[in-house]
Formats: sequence, structure tokens, C-alpha cells
Amino acid sequence: MMNRRILRTAFACILGTAALPLPAIAAPPPSIIHAGQLLETPGKAPLKNATLVVVEGKVKDVRPGFVDAAALGLPADTKVIDLTRMFVMPGFIDLHVHLSGAGDRGLTLRKPDTYFALVGAKNANTTLMAGFTTVRDLGSTGYTVLGLRDAIKDGLVPGPKILASGDPISPTDGHADNHGYREEVMAAMIRRGVCDGADGCRKAVRDAVKRGADVIKVMASGGTLDESDAPTDKQFTDEELQAIAETAHSLGRKVTAHAHGKDAIDACVRANFDSIEHGMWADAETLKAMKAKGIWLVPTVWPIDYVGDTPEKVRNGPLRNLPPVSLAKVMRLGKQPKILVHMAHQIGTKIALGTDAGVYPHGQNAHEFIEYVENGGMTPMESLVAGTSDAALAGGIKGVGSLEPGMDADVVAMAVSPLDDIKAVLDVPFVMRDGIVFKQGGLEQGLQQEARIDTFDVQDAY
Ligand SMILES: [Zn+2]
Repeated sequence: MMNRRILRTAFACILGTAALPLPAIAAPPPSIIHAGQLLETPGKAPLKNATLVVVEGKVKDVRPGFVDAAALGLPADTKVIDLTRMFVMPGFIDLHVHLSGAGDRGLTLRKPDTYFALVGAKNANTTLMAGFTTVRDLGSTGYTVLGLRDAIKDGLVPGPKILASGDPISPTDGHADNHGYREEVMAAMIRRGVCDGADGCRKAVRDAVKRGADVIKVMASGGTLDESDAPTDKQFTDEELQAIAETAHSLGRKVTAHAHGKDAIDACVRANFDSIEHGMWADAETLKAMKAKGIWLVPTVWPIDYVGDTPEKVRNGPLRNLPPVSLAKVMRLGKQPKILVHMAHQIGTKIALGTDAGVYPHGQNAHEFIEYVENGGMTPMESLVAGTSDAALAGGIKGVGSLEPGMDADVVAMAVSPLDDIKAVLDVPFVMRDGIVFKQGGLEQGLQQEARIDTFDVQDAY
């Protein structure tokens, strides 16, 4: 046994980590979905009475009418899922969540990372139950979401597919640095991703990728909920932003900026970022420049509605106990996110759905679809596109966003067509991810199986 291990290690050294044995993952059994309406491709009209064939976690075929297993050449005991009275579409995608965020900063000083990993697991399940089968986590405590991402992939806990940034890239005293404590306390609080100067920032991006980041998140402006900086401040120099974007792209990662102020957004546009998160104070000139370069806007409207879009609502809302400096910043946002989406949509800047989940309770993500229709001037179909196929494009996420053959079988269903009433997205009684049913008839299905992975070779270990 020992010899095999030594040999394996030797091969791993010669060939790189790719030579490590791949886990055996059992594919879920095939299933057939009979859909009353099927939105196979967001942006195109839904099909009436169609059959979605799911094999090995992927869409194998889409057929008109309700076809049975025999006609499809599948085993007679293939599971048939009756959604003949439902509107069926690709799983929702949210490009901006914080699954294991602490909320209360004091908690990060008291609890270990394992605690936050479990917080993340709970929130991931809640998010999946709301119909979100893919999310992009843009900053959670320590390594927690990187581990959670892998645990979900390996079938250990239920949740959406996760792309994760790990700790965001931030300058010293920037939005993701520590503020508001004695210097000795801050020195003891680890802050990965804090960098200054082009070389330092190149290294920070490489370190993030080394830790397992799928995407690079950059704090290009100050934030609303910290106590130090103004949200409109540009925090990195052009040289630093360019170094970050170039390094991210050279490592095959998308780079996205948390940016509120026009100066910060313009600098990211000059540096060829792939997307802008929030973008609150972008004006028409900036939005046109983003359109010209194909840079996506990921507005986050729902959290601002949740915390209050008027000073009155903020004062009585869930954030009423924030420090005064942060509270003032929240009040300033007001209706701006709604104005922004409306302006961007009219100009034709590309918009993909993101919600900053964690600012509001996880699981309410689908409210963002409604915001785009009620306040952003989108049609229901445009809003669904923003949270499916366009979100996949903006995030560079392959295999998701439509139900065409070959795509992942990430499927949600609603009793009412969201094309008739966009509020239907708030009630999703059926959720499938990668061919696994996680919710049916409004009921959580749990994992429904043993862990799908077997990486641990017991014989080898002893
Ligand atoms: Zn955020």
C-alpha cells in the first residue's frame, strides 16, 4: 500500500496536482419532466406542453408534447416528474451574494471559521430553496465559502453551485480592510487581499487564485456599511486597477468591482473590468462607456429597498442601530439604485442580476427580478434573462442559464407564469440542480442520497 502512495505522490509531483486521483461521483438517475410551459431559452417564447429529458445531470433533449420513457429509449422505471400545470425554466442565478457573512462584526472576533462555514451551509440551502441554482459569492469570512463550494459540489450538503472570490482585493483602509478598532486589535485580525501598489496588487490577485478564487472581487470604492470611508471615493490608483485586471485575466478569472462613485467606476472601465457591482452613482456618460466596452452592470436594488429607500424607512428599518456615519451613507442611497437601473436599461448597458444577499435575509433574492420590472423598466422576460442566461454570460459561467440540450439540468418551476406576473418568482415549489431534485411540491427534499463522493481510499490509508 505504501508503495502505491509513494508512486502516486511521485506522479503528482511530476505531472502537477492534476495527477491526483479524481473522485468517483455517481450521476443522479435519469428523469423526464413534463412541463405545461417550458422556457427552454430565456428571451424566446416558452414552449407549451413539452418534455425535458434529463440524463446524467444534464439536459439531453427537449421534445414537444408529453413523451414517455419507452419512446425516449430510457428504462421503464425512469422517474417522470409531473409539472404539467407549471411554468418551468432554468434555475435562477445571483451574481452577488455573501453566504457566510458575519453581519455582526464582533462575531468574527469570537467565532472560528467552522462556525461561518455552517452559517454558509444554512444560507446556501435557503438560497437553493428560493430557486437559485448558481450563485457568485463576492466575499465571505475567511476560507469558509471556498470550502462550502467544494462540499456542495461533492454532494456533502445541499446548495447552489458557487463561484467564489474569497476575500476581496482592497487597498489599506479600503472597504474590505479593518476599521474602527484599536491598532493592536486590527493587527490581530487577518485581512487577506489587502494590497497597495501595482506589484502588491498583482501578488494579491495571484494569492487569491492560489487560495481557490473563481473570480476576483475588487473594492474599487468605499462602501456603505463600513465606518471609515465614503462610498463614492475611488480607492485604488489607475495603475493598481490595471495591474489587478490584467493579472486576473491572465489567470483566466473575471474581475468585478464593488464601485459606488463615478470616479471609481470610470477607472474600472478604463482598466477593462468585466463588471461593476452596485454602480450607484454612474451617470449616462459612464453607462454609455460601459455599454461600448461590453462591461456588465450588476445593480443591487432589493437590499436598498429592504433597508429602506427613504430616510424615514432607514430610521425605522433593520439597520437603525448602525453607527451614525454608516447610517447617513445608507440614507443617501434612497431611490438611486432604481434610477440607475432605469437609466442603464434605457441606454442599453448590459445588466445581470445580483442582490448582495446577506444585507437582507438570504432566500429573498428573487425580489430583485421584481425590482427590474417595477422600477427598472424591464419586461418580465428581460428581467428573467438578467437572472439566467445573461447572468451566466456576465459571470463567464458555462453550462447554466438555459435548458438547451447539453446544459446542466438546473430547473425551477412556478405555479404562475412570471411572464404574466413577475411576482411568481417568489414562490418556487420545484427545484432541481444538476439533475438532483432538491424541492418538490414545495417540500425540501434534502440530499436524498448518500454523499456522492469517495475520495478516501481506506485500504490506501492504512
Ligand atoms: Zn456585497
